[in-house]
Amino acid sequence: MPATDLDQVVNLCKRRGYVYPSAEIYGGFRSTYDYGPLGALMLRNIREAWIHSMVQMRDDVVLIDAAVLGPPQIWEASGHLANFTDPLVDCTNCKTRWRLDKLDDPNTCPNCGKQGTFTEPRQFNLMFKTHAGPIEDEGAVAYLRPETAQGMFVNFSNVLNSTRRKPPFGIAQVGKSFRNEITPQNWIFRTREFEQMEMEYFVPPADSLKWYEYWCTERMNWYLDLGVPADMLRLRAHDPDELSHYSSGTSDVEFRFPWGWDEAEGIAQRGDYDLTQHSIHSGEKLDYFDQATNERYKPYVIEPAVGVTRLFALFLLAAYDEDVVNDETRTVLRLHPRLAPYKVAVLPLSKKDTLTPLAQQVRKQLSQRYMVDYDETQAIGRRYRRQDEIGTPLCVTIDFDSLDDGAVTIRDRDTTEQVRVPIESLLGEVGSRLGF
Ligand code: ATP
Repeated sequence: MPATDLDQVVNLCKRRGYVYPSAEIYGGFRSTYDYGPLGALMLRNIREAWIHSMVQMRDDVVLIDAAVLGPPQIWEASGHLANFTDPLVDCTNCKTRWRLDKLDDPNTCPNCGKQGTFTEPRQFNLMFKTHAGPIEDEGAVAYLRPETAQGMFVNFSNVLNSTRRKPPFGIAQVGKSFRNEITPQNWIFRTREFEQMEMEYFVPPADSLKWYEYWCTERMNWYLDLGVPADMLRLRAHDPDELSHYSSGTSDVEFRFPWGWDEAEGIAQRGDYDLTQHSIHSGEKLDYFDQATNERYKPYVIEPAVGVTRLFALFLLAAYDEDVVNDETRTVLRLHPRLAPYKVAVLPLSKKDTLTPLAQQVRKQLSQRYMVDYDETQAIGRRYRRQDEIGTPLCVTIDFDSLDDGAVTIRDRDTTEQVRVPIESLLGEVGSRLGF
């Protein structure tokens, strides 16, 4: 039964080293989080699962890594300086601040309950502005990127020239983005500093709708393949008044979060908006020339865009479960093996010196291929439950018989079943159980 209680997951994350509130020893820094030893591993696994599907398994998408800092020209061209705003209102009664477009009732303050106490909405630009270099004048203004996408558009010609791609092809990127959100909320769901995974897929304009539908299906399947239950996911097309300034059609992959259905990922048809804008502002052509037909055109763009950190919350919420094993309630994170921080835990039955060398040898062997935890303290039952709680799919136990028969016990997180396996076939057995 996946969690409906956000607090349970937040507590587990703090306790076990997935996510900590940032700058905690100084009282915290609002809406900023640090990812601990398990969290850092899981973030990496989420990125890798995305890159595996979006780049590695395809022959039409390349990966780049563009700068976070950019000159104002990029954001003038993209429309972010003028349009990347949220409507902000203040409650004159209780002095709280809200994003008008996210309020269920635009007249009543959700905090104090008073009606008609809001100020007129002001458009608030979400970009973080800074200065590059020692002099803080207008000429030194720079922005932290609010999305990774523009890195792909400004490098469109570079990628075309250096890789000899032709549409349909994609440019993908994973990296940090920054938005000065008015109302960061729901733990790591909406933060000011976050990480995105975006892919701009460039297609001949006539094929744009076909590819949009293709990517909606592909992206939904990605979540299902990573074990998210189908009844926690849906695809929702935006109403025309919800569309971003560049979009002619967007669908969101939505997830049933504890507070209701909410956006996990957006799949947008950006048309030729970005290439046209950058072409006008930079004076560069940013076209594709098709030598076969002797035609020059601006490709249309389909963009699947998702937050790594938002997915982090999603996967944990989908995986969180409690069940009863041997009359005891246990907490278990049923994370897909690709996402779990540790794939295997190596557990010598006792801390006795006699078991340690063999246990360390097994750990080293498995570590060549997998991230492995090693734990030799406390009773074995407690150690299994610790691993269940952090989502480790397999435990390998080394006992005194192992010294004689060269075999170890593999225990499965989900079924709690145990089987005995010769050490020499352990790597193969673990691989077939994990699926990689
Ligand atoms: P919203 O309307 O919720 O502010 P958005 O629709 O503007 O978000 P996009 O610009 O489409 O979001 O960003 C693409 C993806 O990046 C989102 O689907 C989400 O997964 C992630 N994302 C956007 N903003 C944040 C944030 N502040 N914190 C964490 N993830 C974010």
